[in-house]
Amino acid sequence: MMMNALEFFKNLPDKKCAKCGNAYEEQADCYGNLCENCDDPAR
Ligand SMILES: [Zn+2]
Repeated sequence: MMMNALEFFKNLPDKKCAKCGNAYEEQADCYGNLCENCDDPAR
């Protein structure tokens, strides 16, 4: 069911960055287990 997608993400535990340990909200599947700061494609 399509509506369950939102509930699914709401119920996910906070992800933790593997690099800095900061909890962050998963924004895209390309981030892997790094927060957006550590996984900056510009670096
Ligand atoms: Zn990080």
